[in-house]
Amino acid sequence: MYNAKAYSAASATSPLASSTIPRRDPAERDVQLDIIFCGICHSDLHYVRDEWNSVMPAVYPCVPGHEIIGRVTKVGSAVTKFKPGDLAGVGCMVDSDHSCPACQSGLEQYCSNMILTYGSPDKHLGGVTYGGYSEGIVVDERFVLRVPSNLDPAGAAPLLCAGITTYSPMRHWNVAKGKKVGIVGIGGLGHMGIKFAHAFGAHVVVFTTSPGKKEDALRLGADEVVISRNADEMNKHAGSFDFILDTVSANHNINEYINLLSRDGNITLVGAPEKPLDVSAFSLIFGRRSLSGSAIGGIAETQEMLDFCGEHKITSDVEVIAIQQVNEAYERLLKSDVKYRFCIDMASLKSE
Ligand code: NAP
Ligand code: ZN
Repeated sequence: MYNAKAYSAASATSPLASSTIPRRDPAERDVQLDIIFCGICHSDLHYVRDEWNSVMPAVYPCVPGHEIIGRVTKVGSAVTKFKPGDLAGVGCMVDSDHSCPACQSGLEQYCSNMILTYGSPDKHLGGVTYGGYSEGIVVDERFVLRVPSNLDPAGAAPLLCAGITTYSPMRHWNVAKGKKVGIVGIGGLGHMGIKFAHAFGAHVVVFTTSPGKKEDALRLGADEVVISRNADEMNKHAGSFDFILDTVSANHNINEYINLLSRDGNITLVGAPEKPLDVSAFSLIFGRRSLSGSAIGGIAETQEMLDFCGEHKITSDVEVIAIQQVNEAYERLLKSDVKYRFCIDMASLKSE
C-alpha cells in the first residue's frame, strides 16, 4: 500500500479539499496509472452532495472522478494488454463478479456485484473505492481501456463516462441514418450525444433551456435546435421522433418529450435527477411509446466506442481546469454553465 494525493469531500456539505488516500500495490492482474486528466461528471456532484441518498447513499470521505486518462507506470506479472508508458483510460467501474449473466453478456454495468470507481466496497484495502480526482489509481486490467493515440487526452477523458453513456443507448435503440433523434440538454452527456447521433447519420434535433448554446449545438452536429421552454417550437415536433435521449440532471417535465415520440418511439433516460419524475400513462399509451433507462456501457462496448472515436476523431469539448477550481466548477455545473465538460489537469495536484 502507498499514499496518493487526492481531492476529497468530508461530508455532503463540505467543499472538496486536498487530502491523502491509500492505494494498493499492483497485484498480478493490476495496472497502475499516473492520472493525467479526469473529467467532472454531474454524477460526481450528485454523489458528493448525497443527492442520490435514497438509492446510493454517499460514503465519506469521498474522492469522486470516473473519467480517467492516465499513463501506465507499472503492471502486474499477469497483465497482457498494457505496459509502462501506455496511455490508458478508466471509467465508472473497476470490478464485477465476471460470472453472472450480465457479465457473461459483456454488460458488467448491470452486474449486481459491480464495483464502482468510487464509493463501492474495496475488497483490497477495506473501506470504499476512491476515484480519479487523484494523482494515481490501481485497477484490474479487465477494467482498463486502450485510448487511441490520435485523440487529445483531455478531450478523451470524458469519453469514459459521458461518451459511453450516450453511445450505448443509441446503439441499443438503433440510431442510424433515416431516424429522427432528439437530444435533451446540452451538457457533458448531451454534447457527446449530439456528436454520436450525427456520426451515426441520424437527423438530430437538440432541446435546450439555454438559448445561448444554439450556435454551439449546430456546430456540434445538430440539424435543428429547439428552445424547450417555447411551447410553439415544441409542438411543431409532436409525434415525430423515433428516439429521444434525455440527459437532464434536474427535475423537468418528461411528458413534454414523450408526446414528441412517434408510434413505438422510445425515450431513454440517462440523466438521473434527485427526485422521481411524473409520467403520464396516457402519453405512453397513445402510440405504444416506451420509456427506458440506460447505465453507462459494458467494457467491450466502451472499447468499441473509444475505437470509433479514434476513427472518427471524436472527443469532448473540454474546459481544462486546475483541481483547485473544482468547487467553483461544481457551482457552474448547477447553472448549466459548462462548455461542455470540465476536465481537471491533474498536474495541478502536485502543488498541494
Ligand atoms: P451537465 O453537464 O450538468 O448537463 C446537464 C444539462 O441538463 C444542462 O447543461 C442543461 O442543458 C440541462 N438542464 C439542467 N437543469 C435543467 C432543468 N432544470 N431543466 C431542463 N434542463 C436542465 O450534466 P452531465 O454530466 O451531462 O450529466 C447529466 C445527467 O446524467 C446527470 O444527472 C448525471 O448524474 C447523469 N449521468 C447518468 C449516467 C448513466 O449511466 N445513466 C452516466 C453519467 C451521468 P441545457 O442548458 O441545454 O438546457
Ligand atoms: Zn459520469
